[in-house]
Amino acid sequence: MQLANASSGGVVNSNSPFFIVSKYGTKQIMLKQHTFNRHICRDDVTYWRCSQFAVLRCRARLKTKLDTLTILNSEHNHEVITKARKYGSLKRQRAEAEAAARAERRQDPLETPATSAPPAST
Ligand SMILES: [Zn+2]
Repeated sequence: MQLANASSGGVVNSNSPFFIVSKYGTKQIMLKQHTFNRHICRDDVTYWRCSQFAVLRCRARLKTKLDTLTILNSEHNHEVITKARKYGSLKRQRAEAEAAARAERRQDPLETPATSAPPAST
């Protein structure tokens, strides 16, 4: 089954859905950089759920019937996840975020400027 339009001079729209095989050997659909896992097969209709359904309770869903793909819910509750999170990366991200927050606090004035206007008396 071919969903992506690969016949137009080799130019594939990155927004077109296409099939990939995950590292676990399961078939997935890639659509707008989001991946969908096969959920239910009924007759010639297959339902697909966002691969982040189990992790983030993402509600995005698709269905395919022969060569026709229908988006049932295109709303993801997360950003595109391009890479599997490496071990320790979450810790490092948090450390970087904390360092950035500390740097911001250092730049903030400790006292309110004396030039601020007095409150209106009305
Ligand atoms: Zn999603």
